[in-house]
Amino acid sequence: MSHTHPDTSTHNGAHNVVIGLGANLENRRETLQKTWLDIQSHPCLFPVALSSPYCSQPVDMTSPHWFINAVGLIQTSLRPHLLLRLLHDIEQRYGRRRTSVRNGHDDRTLDLDLLLYDDAVICDEELTVPHPRMTDRLFVMVPLVEVAAGFVHPQHGKTMQMLLDDLRRRKPQQEIRPHCWQTGVFERSL
Ligand code: ADP
Ligand code: MG
Repeated sequence: MSHTHPDTSTHNGAHNVVIGLGANLENRRETLQKTWLDIQSHPCLFPVALSSPYCSQPVDMTSPHWFINAVGLIQTSLRPHLLLRLLHDIEQRYGRRRTSVRNGHDDRTLDLDLLLYDDAVICDEELTVPHPRMTDRLFVMVPLVEVAAGFVHPQHGKTMQMLLDDLRRRKPQQEIRPHCWQTGVFERSL
């Protein structure tokens, strides 16, 4: 499949990284697909697998614009903070505008979150890994389980599949809808 890298062996010195992709403005699916193609063509990023997309109601924010979310598994030797800055550069390329006052609850053309970086635990002003809200969000955990069900969360000590099962019990009211990728976008890169 075009969105799965053919070589899933570990690249030299590479770390396994899970990234959350989201968009709730403009051409949401196409933006996420083009982002994945950008990741494929970056010399330091090696995409392994991309989940299918899901449509989700905004959580923790009030907006009429629903999100499309997906999760990607990549390998890279970039250190976490450098990788975060690269993800921010990609967000800007797709027109993401960050307001000066950080509230984290704004509509966005593209949101790229660093969810997991091997089993690293990082907490500083710039970066928190594992992403602190990931285990409360169905729109993260459902696509995550498609690409990394057996990964163990370094703080909870449970697999992503177990954490998803817990979340379904804890927050049964959260709803997401399976979607499919837009045809022609991945194929254009062949
Ligand atoms: P959110 O994605 O939580 O809605 P933003 O995308 O606006 O919020 O990100 C706000 C800030 O969160 C970023 O400037 C970034 O430095 C910080 N941040 C901390 N940890 C992470 C992480 N794991 N992934 C992405 N951003 C992070
Ligand atoms: Mg973000």
